[in-house]
Amino acid sequence: MEDKKSKIKIAVTLISLAAAAVTIAFTAAHYRRRRKTRSSCYLHAEGKPQFSFRRVLADNSFSHFKHLKRKENGSNLHPYEQEIKALLEKPPVDFKLDSTGWNSKVSSSYVWVETESQLKELADLLSNERAFGVDTEQHSLRSFLGFTALIQISTRTEDYLLDTIALHDAMAVLRPVFADPNICKVFHGADNDVLWLQRDFHIYIVNLFDTAKACEVLSKPQKSLAYLLETYCGIYTNKLLQREDWRQRPLSAEMLEYAQTDAHYLLYIARCLIEELRQHDIDNSTSLDEKPHYVVEATRRSNMICMQVYTKEIDLYPGEAAASSILSRHFDVHEGSSTSSEKQDLVRRLCTWRELMARVHDESLRYVLPDQAVVSLAENVPTNLTELSQLIAHVDHDADPVNPNCFLPPLSSVVTSHLDDLFCLIQEKESKLDDIISIILQTCLGENGSCPLSIYNYALLANCDFKLTRRTVSKQNGIRGSKKASRKGSRARQHFVEKFSCKSPVYHNCRIFADDGRLLCYCDRRKLEWYLRRDLAKLVDDDPPTIMLLFEPKGRPEDEDNDFYIQSKRNICVSCGEGGHYLRYRVIPSCYRIHFPEHLKKPPFS
Ligand code: AMP
Ligand code: MN
Ligand code: ZN
Repeated sequence: MEDKKSKIKIAVTLISLAAAAVTIAFTAAHYRRRRKTRSSCYLHAEGKPQFSFRRVLADNSFSHFKHLKRKENGSNLHPYEQEIKALLEKPPVDFKLDSTGWNSKVSSSYVWVETESQLKELADLLSNERAFGVDTEQHSLRSFLGFTALIQISTRTEDYLLDTIALHDAMAVLRPVFADPNICKVFHGADNDVLWLQRDFHIYIVNLFDTAKACEVLSKPQKSLAYLLETYCGIYTNKLLQREDWRQRPLSAEMLEYAQTDAHYLLYIARCLIEELRQHDIDNSTSLDEKPHYVVEATRRSNMICMQVYTKEIDLYPGEAAASSILSRHFDVHEGSSTSSEKQDLVRRLCTWRELMARVHDESLRYVLPDQAVVSLAENVPTNLTELSQLIAHVDHDADPVNPNCFLPPLSSVVTSHLDDLFCLIQEKESKLDDIISIILQTCLGENGSCPLSIYNYALLANCDFKLTRRTVSKQNGIRGSKKASRKGSRARQHFVEKFSCKSPVYHNCRIFADDGRLLCYCDRRKLEWYLRRDLAKLVDDDPPTIMLLFEPKGRPEDEDNDFYIQSKRNICVSCGEGGHYLRYRVIPSCYRIHFPEHLKKPPFS
């Protein structure tokens, strides 16, 4: 009786699994059918400056950001933690901010740095300075995580404007001067700059003087750079320029002047503020040997900013945080409220679509589909493509005072070229979020996907199809596992060996090289083919098959003290050396592993 019950149970489970598989297959086919009729992705025709970068440290996948690994620093997350802690314990107070020529008004003379040799020269020159001023300009509208488009560096005698789009892959030469505790870097409000420099270039700052922190310590009435420029230098700037598109080349005369001004006076302002801090310490000291308090506090607060580490924000599922925020701001979602669960569900699906599309195309959420458009689509569910585009085009672009969308086109290129996918998504009321995620990614990036693969999105598929895999794995193990356990005796063992031992080598020992010729890993043929099919690598040897990547990988195994991947492996049993037949075991069988809590399933350091 029990047996019968469990058989029925299995049958029911199988049927429901099959039904789920059919739904996925159906929806995917539905998407594919539509895809044939629509125009292809805009990225096939439109280049973006960041697609020329070869080394991207923070891509748009769901993996965590990898910080620079330094041998000196063991396993600490912040590679310069020791150096910064040393500064916090013994703050530098003997500033010699000699600023000859400081007060000369910013002139039209600046040095535009755009080649590697110019950058190396600058790095050399900076290594002999005691201090320099720095500011950065970001671009964040047409990029998912944003990128540094310009860095301004000012010494006592010269202003340098670094074209960090042209120099993106070469910026590592500036790491030593930024991390040198003997060179003071003067910023104004460095909180974001510190993180942006880590994200784009693995540049970490040791020894920072932040003029905004000095203002705080001195209880200044304001702490904006505009205030300091006015008060100390009689300079007026138009801060609205910070919102310009800093990717454009050449930069307009107005933007160049703004950028130069933002760094030019920093050394001078820092010197004035340090004088005031010192004066405070003198005025307030009762005995001669009392430690300077204000100066110490300003440098301590500054260097605390350097201790921050860049991290990627990753939701439980894509779009989750944005959906909650939109729901709480624009809909009544209290218990017993009038907002239907379908409406809430649609907001969630739209946010998931928007975030995945932003990651795939390397665009900001705001560019793909502004919040107001999500609200409008959930309020007035469109019934055809024309309604859909009209609803999006007519949202009130100025409804958000913090992020005025005046630069936005009425319909983003993402929406225009994937309009029917968006329409499908709005209509598929029944689909589960898991399935939607895999379908969107497959449709865009899977084999024959609609959108081009890039250094930003190629890893997205790899770490996002975990939900689908989990379903297939549990289905297989549930049935096969019980069959295996029932086999007994030597005949059965013989049969087992024949049936289950590896028929082909486990390790193909194919090799993957970086474009500088360093070995990245040994792997199997399928992995090589994966890269080759997508034009991400070229074949450089046939025996053993070897490819060279056409993009700069995120790191080298040796640099991370991990040589497991670059050991070639023999196809023998690791316990008895048998080469004729052997089984491939996972150290923990996956039928147990699937029941692990999520954090234990992840490989370490991923
Ligand atoms: P700043 O150094 O003040 O010129 O700002 C540096 C970068 O921060 C700019 O290039 C912008 O990308 C970003 N930023 C600062 N303030 C704003 C703002 N109010 N709106 C949009 N972006 C801003
Ligand atoms: Mn600036
Ligand atoms: Zn696309």
